[in-house]
Amino acid sequence: MFQPKIKEKVWSVNIEKGMIELWMKEGWYEFEEKEPIFVIDTPPPYPAPFWHIGAAISYAQQDIIARSRRMKGYSVLYPIGIDRNGIPVEWYVEKYEGIDMWKYPREKFVELCRTALDKYDDNMANIMRRLMLSGDIDHKYRTDLDEYRALTQATFIELWKRGLIYEANRPNNWCPRCRTTIADAEVEYKTEKGKLYYIKFPLKKGGHVLIATTRPELIAGCDLVLVHPEDDRYKGLIGKKVILPIYGREVKIAADKEVDPEFGTGMEMVCSYGDSVDVRLFRKWRLKERKVLDIDGKLTEEAGKYAGLSVKEAREKIVEDLRKEGLLEKVEEIEHKVPIHDKCKSEIEIISMPEYYLKQVEFVEELKKIADEMKWYPKKHKQRLLDWLNSITMDWPISRRRYYGTEIPLWYCKKCGYIHVPKPGRYYKPWKEKPGIKCPKCGSEDWKGEERTLDTWMDSSISVLYITGYKKDEEKFKRTFLKGEKLRPQGTDIIRTWLYYSLLRVYQLTGKRAFEHVWINGMGLDEKGRKMSKSLGNVIYPEEILDEYGGDALRFYSVMEGAVGDDYRISKERIEGAFKSLTKLLNIARYVSMFPQVEEVELEETDKWILSELNEAKERMLRAYDEFDPHKGIHHLRKFTHELFASHYIEMTKERARGNDEKAKAVWYTLHQVLKDVLRLLAPIVPAITDYIWRSLYEGSVHKEKFPKVDGKYEKYRKYTERIVGFNEKIWKEKKERGLSLKSEIKTEVPKELKPFEGDLRRMHNIK
Ligand SMILES: [Zn+2]
Ligand SMILES: [Zn+2]
Repeated sequence: MFQPKIKEKVWSVNIEKGMIELWMKEGWYEFEEKEPIFVIDTPPPYPAPFWHIGAAISYAQQDIIARSRRMKGYSVLYPIGIDRNGIPVEWYVEKYEGIDMWKYPREKFVELCRTALDKYDDNMANIMRRLMLSGDIDHKYRTDLDEYRALTQATFIELWKRGLIYEANRPNNWCPRCRTTIADAEVEYKTEKGKLYYIKFPLKKGGHVLIATTRPELIAGCDLVLVHPEDDRYKGLIGKKVILPIYGREVKIAADKEVDPEFGTGMEMVCSYGDSVDVRLFRKWRLKERKVLDIDGKLTEEAGKYAGLSVKEAREKIVEDLRKEGLLEKVEEIEHKVPIHDKCKSEIEIISMPEYYLKQVEFVEELKKIADEMKWYPKKHKQRLLDWLNSITMDWPISRRRYYGTEIPLWYCKKCGYIHVPKPGRYYKPWKEKPGIKCPKCGSEDWKGEERTLDTWMDSSISVLYITGYKKDEEKFKRTFLKGEKLRPQGTDIIRTWLYYSLLRVYQLTGKRAFEHVWINGMGLDEKGRKMSKSLGNVIYPEEILDEYGGDALRFYSVMEGAVGDDYRISKERIEGAFKSLTKLLNIARYVSMFPQVEEVELEETDKWILSELNEAKERMLRAYDEFDPHKGIHHLRKFTHELFASHYIEMTKERARGNDEKAKAVWYTLHQVLKDVLRLLAPIVPAITDYIWRSLYEGSVHKEKFPKVDGKYEKYRKYTERIVGFNEKIWKEKKERGLSLKSEIKTEVPKELKPFEGDLRRMHNIK
């Protein structure tokens, strides 16, 4: 009698792999569409040869939410997607095929991109399985599917018809590296060492003024010089004219409150366009635009003898010329913020191009309301969205001059300029297809297809609509999007892009709030709290960890490590600690597995006491799951399992358990009761080990179970916990100090308050 049903004494990655195979055979993802429905709008990752461990962890954390909602009784729509549109794959192809996108046939280039993306798809799916994501990995959706792109185009067509999309030629962020306009949301800033040049500008009436600038190469674009109206140094100069060095053109001096008198000399040249301030001032003063830079970031004819040079070359050259002419007073080293493109990190220029815009300014106030209505986990990140909303001053430029993206579905009549907008529903490629109709205005059949694509955020911002069957399956859309509870999990770095654009687009299209819950994960840093990067040599790949410790250990570690939304440090040592915890759990289960399962019998006081503590652990853990933050409950649950249950309860009842009477049965019953509930509580976090134990001892799979119910039946016994723990520790300490084994006899009194537990305590400590 009393042989453990579980044989293993150490948890292993191989057992975990066995579980994964078993689930794959059984089909581990199903979505029943039974109410209540919970929708998780999983971030579709971009395919890459290597996955950052922090990203892998965030997906595991989202899976914990999915599993916990299922155990709470929800049907969970938890699709897995891959985001495949955009610039990174285009570069990859250019680099590895040694070709230039603009000099290569578009059709073939698009094919090369597709092949490159496919290569990484499988690798990512494998990691997702090893992480045990309980989503639909076998039927991943891809944002470059014809069906997905057709939906993006359908939404473009709808908004076009409603007058929310328009074309305009205005100065905007331009990435010379990617040769495309980009939105403010895609602009990042880096701090850089730079130079501030103090240049003499001759005054028309004789003498000169000093103007400090970081961009002397843009002097050709200068159309105005500004000073602050209250700056006494320059009051007499307002209305006078300066002569531009090198170019000799006359430019007016005017006053504007936006000028910072503290910067440089307090005198500022306004050029088209050095930065966004220039753009604003240009508009305000209605100046004449001078295109000094072309789309490759090179100087134009407007720059005279510097035409054809890159910004850096031109700057060096003009500084040299100014110095020769005695117009360069001095050069100061400074640190300044330079705008860069978030994808390629190249410096951004400001260039005017005709682009399509989606209206967003007029929606800002409504979106602020939506931001307030949503529940945020953690709350602190809401401010980031509000800050972004408050900074929006212009509409969203949505056209991109790239190839691997969703095409703008428009044709232009070459004869009369009529714009043809097709019917929504199909995927259109105007750069290679004919619309097949006559121009309704002039009868011509000579069309020019639009060649630009859409900003990839136009695609990914409707992921929640795509996964819920918008415009495809009315019934599904009603049950999931309209009636379900929807959660958006994502990182802080894409609040102003993915989250913001999703809220905007869904609101424009449906008039509804896209999500009830927004869950923001923290970032995975290295052990010293630094970002992981190739250059620092501190990158850990998920495969390494999964091979050595497995998915359960990684998942358990991530929940133990920190609260939702906080950055955390990734340490192999602590992941190994999590792995050891799993072995401890296995051994607790192994001990329990020695005893038969019985119906509830009359319980002893010790049994009631541990059940009261089990109830407390349940309550805390279930509350934590409700807040999508299992970290809040896990330390208590671990302490309950490893300490109160394993070190105290199991030791107190060891002898009683080995009997064959009602009192023994009371222990057996309690042991299984506790183990079952602990497994159910841990199942979302460590799916492999909990299911392995469950299937070894009980019916079915733990993943088909619901969370245990909380009940306060034995609540009054919790008051004994401190005393029981204190008494046991006192005796252990005493025996240790006296060099006695734990089993040796000892003479002592069981304190009066612990009388209800006297029998178990005496047997445990061998008290005579
Ligand atoms: Zn770029
Ligand atoms: Zn026409």
